[in-house]
Amino acid sequence: MKKETICVHGEQNSENSFGAISVPIYQTASFSHPSLGESTGYDYSRLQNPTREELENIMTSLENGIDSMAFSTGMAAISALMELFEPGDHIIASDDLYGGTPRLFDNISKKNKIEIDYIDTSDLIGVKNLIKENTKALFIETPTNPMMQITDLKAISKIGKEQNLIVIVDNTFLSPYFQNPLSLGADIVVHSGTKYIGGHNDTLGGFLTTNSQELSDRLRFIFKTIGSCLGPMDSWLMIRGIKTLAIRMKKQEENAMKIAKWLKKSDKVKKVFYIGLPDHPQYEISKSQSRGFGAMISFEVDSYETVVNVLENIKIIKFAESLGGVESLMTFPKIQTHADVDEKILEAKGVNDRLLRLSVGIEDIDDLIKDLESALGGI
Ligand SMILES: *Cc1c(COP(=O)(O)O)cnc(C)c1O
Repeated sequence: MKKETICVHGEQNSENSFGAISVPIYQTASFSHPSLGESTGYDYSRLQNPTREELENIMTSLENGIDSMAFSTGMAAISALMELFEPGDHIIASDDLYGGTPRLFDNISKKNKIEIDYIDTSDLIGVKNLIKENTKALFIETPTNPMMQITDLKAISKIGKEQNLIVIVDNTFLSPYFQNPLSLGADIVVHSGTKYIGGHNDTLGGFLTTNSQELSDRLRFIFKTIGSCLGPMDSWLMIRGIKTLAIRMKKQEENAMKIAKWLKKSDKVKKVFYIGLPDHPQYEISKSQSRGFGAMISFEVDSYETVVNVLENIKIIKFAESLGGVESLMTFPKIQTHADVDEKILEAKGVNDRLLRLSVGIEDIDDLIKDLESALGGI
């Protein structure tokens, strides 16, 4: 089945739903047993719940994996993932990650004696040089947040395989509709379901998907033990969001391409970072490993005053954290999503007080451009 069809129809393996078109919400914590030693297949919702299971199966299909787990948030998914590692283990991570991830790594993981090195993971030789005897995993975001750097997933997965490392890819920015890291050699895919998958800025959620039975067994054990699973109602909201994932991604990308081109022509805008522009340094890699460019744009304006002007004058586009939903949202990474990241690291990356990040929604493109135009001009 094609992704469009999976998004709409899901896995449809719920047997007792009276033909319900919409997957029922099994709002129950526990399940009764027919007799001693027998189970309906469900015992307790932390272990599994039919609504969450349907959602997990959809994610597994969309990411070409064998198993997925639905967590209460993206950070809950990454936190659980970190339980695969032990004190003394070393992980190499992209140096331009969603801000919450280094906050976890530099505080919680470090406290647990897990060593993390950050590097631009598009630099494959640099990554190779960082690998040590205790290196256990690579943690990659591509495109990165907010600088939109691309890592060659096939090439980095090959390095991972050669060195026996777990290759983990946070695929939030492109969604499974545009990119499938497992098919390019990765071992675990992470999603913040809060973003494109839910798609409506109304539900938090997170996912881990793998195509390895061994990792699935280990992660399922951690998952049921830690207990940060997604509830039935929120699982249903995710399923409903996914129904329109394909058309949302297409429309958001179409709008983003037009906005990126428009921003390039604006004299208040000095740099535009969008992976769909042919002058993006890794444009060819993007084209070869993804089916689309997504709808995340970062851009640098001429001054901090312009940033203030834009944030105070956008009307349709909302000044808010988060991304991926149908509503266009503008973020000021330095003080919002990346507030806890070391300032020197940010500055070196280009995350300065002139950088804005735009998550393009599905609104009418002319309205969006008019909004940007008046905000940039301060009209
Ligand atoms: C938002 C986000 C996360 C964290 O997800 P939450 O659902 O907010 O916990 C992780 N990675 C990326 C790339 C994100 O954008």
